[in-house]
Amino acid sequence: MTGNQITEMGKRYLMQNYAQLPLVIARGDGVRVWDDEGKSYLDFVGGIAVNAVGHCHPRVVAAIREQAERLIHCSNLYWFEPPVVLARELAVLSGLDRVFFCNSGAEANEAAIKLARKYAYEHGRENPEIIAFTKSFHGRTLGTLAATGQEKFSRGFTPLPGGFRHLPFNDVAELKKAVGSQTAAVMIEPLQGEGGVYPASLELMETLAELRREEGILLIFDEVQCGLGRTGKAFAYEHYGVRPDILTLAKALGGGLPIGAAVAREEVARVFQPGTHGSTFGGNPVACAAARAVLQVLQEEGLVEQAAKTGEYMKACLDALQKKYPFIKEVRGMGLLLGMELDRPGQEMVALCQERGLLINCTAERVIRFLPPLIITREEVDEAVGILEEALRVLILS
Ligand SMILES: *Cc1c(COP(=O)(O)O)cnc(C)c1O
Repeated sequence: MTGNQITEMGKRYLMQNYAQLPLVIARGDGVRVWDDEGKSYLDFVGGIAVNAVGHCHPRVVAAIREQAERLIHCSNLYWFEPPVVLARELAVLSGLDRVFFCNSGAEANEAAIKLARKYAYEHGRENPEIIAFTKSFHGRTLGTLAATGQEKFSRGFTPLPGGFRHLPFNDVAELKKAVGSQTAAVMIEPLQGEGGVYPASLELMETLAELRREEGILLIFDEVQCGLGRTGKAFAYEHYGVRPDILTLAKALGGGLPIGAAVAREEVARVFQPGTHGSTFGGNPVACAAARAVLQVLQEEGLVEQAAKTGEYMKACLDALQKKYPFIKEVRGMGLLLGMELDRPGQEMVALCQERGLLINCTAERVIRFLPPLIITREEVDEAVGILEEALRVLILS
């Protein structure tokens, strides 16, 4: 099919919930993708943090192929190897104990919410409340929409499940006031992605640890976007020295295959007994085999340390652009999850960069968000920053 045919058929047969850009991607390799006409693009969107080891990493491709020839699906009525081994690896990496596998970030957060509620009930909290924050994003199911602190995502979909309360992000005084005997958990992205790339303050994270000690609440860290090396540490919470009781992962985990995980400490994980929760596809052998390959590649290629270094370099490049172009308001983020806030909508920048062979994303309307594969080199950052500057020059003249 030609690109045009794909676009036209998509507009006719797919529900129109995505507002796709006028670009048909035909294949990917490493940090680049190619469109239907063979034009190549440097990919600084990276599937929104999914393609952490790059497109079609040979180790991931081989793992998928080998597992697909052996066992593609098996019911959780039985034991099979891939999720067992992957669970052990995630437990070791996070310092937590047990894993529940599912298929997406939203489902990982649903599992976390259910764990926290059941734990609260079992500890005598009758109307357990989960505290979350403004500008947060936790998913699109009704439960995770209720957790998400951005009204625009749930408009038209009410009534949402109750039991959530939102506080201003990084407001320690409000947090201390809100947490009490009815609080089951606090749910937070240590580095907010979708909401516009806002890191939690050290003070907020340390206050959370203090409130856990004093009030017996659980900490749920949603690292669906910022986890698995993206910020220059295996998990973003390592920057703060605060470990969660429940950690949720998804995006980068499967190297492109759909997989999510809720990882918890023993005492919390224990509330999931046979029959309490489940997922037909959870722990899918092929997805788990791909995830094991991703973890191996992250480790063997030293990608976490590389993300820290390349991210620092890229942030310095963006800071330099900010000094030159007054309509860049702020550059923020950690590692290779960086945001460049403009004083205007960012869609024009996205289009200008795409014309010049660079894919970038705009979130929260004005924040250009960079989520390249962790394998990018300084030279590729230079190439991207060169294109960004060309686009900025066009913007300044218009
Ligand atoms: C993307 C994202 C989700 C939702 O993940 P899906 O796989 O789209 O359900 C949840 N939390 C955060 C922080 C995310 O970035």
